[in-house]
Amino acid sequence: AYLDRIAAVEPAVHAFLHVDEEGALAAARRADEDRAAGRASSELAGVPLALKDVLTTSDMPTTCGSKMLEGWTPPYDATVTRRLREAGVVLLGKTNMDEFAMGSSTENSAYGPTRNPWDTERIPGGSGGGSSAALAAFEAPLAIGTDTGGSIRQPGAVTGTVGVKPTYGGVSRHGLVAFSSSLDQAGPCGRTVLDAALLHEVIAGHDPLDSTSVDAPVPQVVAAAREGAAGDLRGVRVGVVRELGGEGYQEGVQRSFRAAVDQLTALGAEVVEVSCPHFDYGLGAYYLIAPSECSSNLARFDAMRYGLRVGDDGSRSAEEVMSLTREAGFGPEVKRRIMLGTYALSSGYYDAYYGQAQKVRTLITRDFTAAFEQVDVLVSPTTPTTAFRIGERVENPMEMYLADLCTIPSNLAGNASMSVPSGLSDEDGLPVGLQIMAPPMADDRLYRVGAAYE
Ligand code: GLN
Repeated sequence: AYLDRIAAVEPAVHAFLHVDEEGALAAARRADEDRAAGRASSELAGVPLALKDVLTTSDMPTTCGSKMLEGWTPPYDATVTRRLREAGVVLLGKTNMDEFAMGSSTENSAYGPTRNPWDTERIPGGSGGGSSAALAAFEAPLAIGTDTGGSIRQPGAVTGTVGVKPTYGGVSRHGLVAFSSSLDQAGPCGRTVLDAALLHEVIAGHDPLDSTSVDAPVPQVVAAAREGAAGDLRGVRVGVVRELGGEGYQEGVQRSFRAAVDQLTALGAEVVEVSCPHFDYGLGAYYLIAPSECSSNLARFDAMRYGLRVGDDGSRSAEEVMSLTREAGFGPEVKRRIMLGTYALSSGYYDAYYGQAQKVRTLITRDFTAAFEQVDVLVSPTTPTTAFRIGERVENPMEMYLADLCTIPSNLAGNASMSVPSGLSDEDGLPVGLQIMAPPMADDRLYRVGAAYE
């Protein structure tokens, strides 16, 4: 049924870069047989899923939305991919994304944009717009995204779906093609909080193949979602972040957020205002740290090891081939980030830019620590605006970067964060998201509050 749905709506939505019809049907048949024999591998056995094209798959191409990796099929599965297969989850295919996960609208994909199913003239958010659009268009019941600065939560918000960035280190990065290694985190996307929780428990947990993976028990997110569904938040302290909201936010988003806060109060939560004064500098710090790490990580695309190779006719040096390949294979945003990062890391500038940004990162982490001494979770709008029109911000990178204003602090601090649907804006009728943030390894709190709220 999902394959039929994909065939019907893909011409309008373009959520997928690759659909593996044969593989999906074979996996579904295996899951059916296992279930009939009484040995289903998990609660999600046989459930279809859309996988962001930044996670490696040994039987499907992995392009990261880039010409650089066109036609490249990796020799191994990411740990997330492997865990999904072991749980009997049916992989439908790979979803569209901004090139190497750099963007906030999925317009930076080398394979053309994904469209928001709510209004196909609008963006589905980014960088993981394909995964969230696939959910919103009922092309898949579950999806996986990755979130470096908001790429799971922000598409979730603007498509009216749930997206979770787990605690940094909570889900393995092995086989997640690196953009900014100290920020990248894979996580679950679903149409309900409980769906996301079930998926979270399948993909999370320690992995010796990722040196930053946390060696601790996985937070009990399914139990928390089930508890939250009862709708009782008595005893839960919720902090409204003063710095995320107000000026620069669409009025419909502000009103929706105020209504969300009222509803949390009505559910019994104790709501207070909390100040995180350094969040104002998060965007600036992020757009130095992420490009710096990207400039180093993307050095591996050297025309020798993976994918594209241009001009290798025997007359040119390796250096010339590399240069021609990188010129042809990377899109404008990726080049911009590599240039920014290389500059920020260069001798003489390192302390002024990268060093300063790292100090701001520490201050933001301290803001969170202080806030979580007062409250159990923090809340804010997920995005300052609803889905904007395709093309509206492509000429202005600064404006594009603003879409991540509310999501970036959680990446810099490494804590857990969720976007849960918060109804439709009374201004334009488009979906709005409520962001919930919790301390590191307290991902269960997101699910408890999210399930109570949805
Ligand atoms: N929009 C942010 C960026 O362009 C975040 C992307 C992400 O989370 N992968 O870097």
